[in-house]
Amino acid sequence: MNLAAWLQRAGRARPESPAIAVGTRAVATYSGFALRAARLADGLRGLPGVAAGDRVAIFSKNCTEYLEILYGIWWAGLAAVPINAKLHAAEAAWILEHSAASVAFVGAGVEAEMGARAPETLRHLVTIRSPAYEKLFSGDAAPLAHAEPDDLAWLFYTSGTTGRPKGAMLSHRNLFSASYGYLTDVDPTNPGDTLLHAAPMSHGSGIYIMAHVGRFGVNAVAESGGFEPVEVLSAFAEMPGISMFAAPTMIKRLVDCPCETVNDNIRTVIWGGAPMHVADIRRALDRFGPHFAQIYGQGETPMTATVLSRADIADRDHPRWLERLGSAGIVNSAVEVRIGGENDETLPVGETGEILVRGDAVMLGYWNNPQATTETLRGGWLHTGDVGAVDEEGYVTLKDRSKDVIISGGSNIYPREVEEVLLSHPGVREVSVIGRRDPEWGEVVIAYYSGGAEPGELDELCLGRIARFKRPKDYIRVDSLPKNNYGKILKTELREADEKRAGKPGSGC
Ligand code: AMP
Repeated sequence: MNLAAWLQRAGRARPESPAIAVGTRAVATYSGFALRAARLADGLRGLPGVAAGDRVAIFSKNCTEYLEILYGIWWAGLAAVPINAKLHAAEAAWILEHSAASVAFVGAGVEAEMGARAPETLRHLVTIRSPAYEKLFSGDAAPLAHAEPDDLAWLFYTSGTTGRPKGAMLSHRNLFSASYGYLTDVDPTNPGDTLLHAAPMSHGSGIYIMAHVGRFGVNAVAESGGFEPVEVLSAFAEMPGISMFAAPTMIKRLVDCPCETVNDNIRTVIWGGAPMHVADIRRALDRFGPHFAQIYGQGETPMTATVLSRADIADRDHPRWLERLGSAGIVNSAVEVRIGGENDETLPVGETGEILVRGDAVMLGYWNNPQATTETLRGGWLHTGDVGAVDEEGYVTLKDRSKDVIISGGSNIYPREVEEVLLSHPGVREVSVIGRRDPEWGEVVIAYYSGGAEPGELDELCLGRIARFKRPKDYIRVDSLPKNNYGKILKTELREADEKRAGKPGSGC
């Protein structure tokens, strides 16, 4: 079954219901949206050199056209390759080449540069909102293409916190499962409810589009095409039944925004993609009320591994509330999760190992990378590379990426635990804890942070809260921490910079 079947159904059953909005302004009904997708499908299939199953890239910031392009691609039996709009043109061109996309839709302003860098495999470069773009809608509505469950729907390039990104192949089945998991566990959605896209549709926010089409909701694109706290807060005030996906850094900015807020309309603000420290969750709850849910997933099992529900986050009277806030919740109903030991054996409750995921939401494999596919999906389980433990009630606590764990004097130290402590200091804005090679201990703990706190105060805080061996040997204040285009802190880069720094005489080490 094709993902676009949900759009076809909505177009027939709810022709007049609002489907797409810019901010609070509806710009398309479901019949209009379905017709545009069906016409685009006709236009795409009519392009010379475009055949069933071809990849079609989208390199644009959020816009309403994103929705019709995605669905037009699926309607035509093609596969989408959404590319993060914040990537450099050279990085986007690498993805075009790697995916061998035959068509690319690009936002205005980058067409010349992308044209110059286009690989030979790219047959058509179409600028969104140009006459050539509109021409693709000039034909008749195409019939909905059939899709097998394992047909490629979305080639999801991972954010690449280390090395080149990999293309996780997501099938129609994967995205239906992720959508069912969302509607069951994360955010049951009613007709007319709105999903505000302030985070990139090329990533997490985009994975939630389908559930909203399936439930006849409204996909709203922020007017700015990006994330502006004031804009989001005014949407909260004006749109009933609003949900959105937000990276933890975005939630922090919303919490810090000095303007007035109206919270009653908020359905769910879902965070994920990076750790959110307990102190920050509590501030967000105090400011916006019990409207938060957390998901843990990765491109390889999109937004779908575990979920910490709105109810769990709101349940302040629960004896283990704080512990739960520090967890990533329970397994999403679309998948199975277990903790694997060194040989993938299932570890007992409380023991720390690699988080393994299996189920219909888990990717088919990596595009053109059989070696990485075999390695990552060995034994039929997705090896997430994340380290965690599960408690007797099934709550999974993420410790860290396995490569980020610090081993000092033979003991494992999970940076996140130290970061949690440091972040509880009001003078710490952001923090990242890494390991530095050390001849005596193997590695020692180093904390990089921004904010006004003094190193001495931080050391005192750690002495009072965590074991001595976990205490940073050095606290280094910086203006900001290195981040990728999704706002994730790049520990690899930080480690490299730290290595150089540590090598310099007089660096205090
Ligand atoms: P990506 O594939 O770019 O979405 O990155 C996925 C990675 O982000 C995961 O493997 C985790 O390391 C991290 N991540 C995702 N969700 C969470 C979460 N809720 N808490 C902490 N880390 C997360």
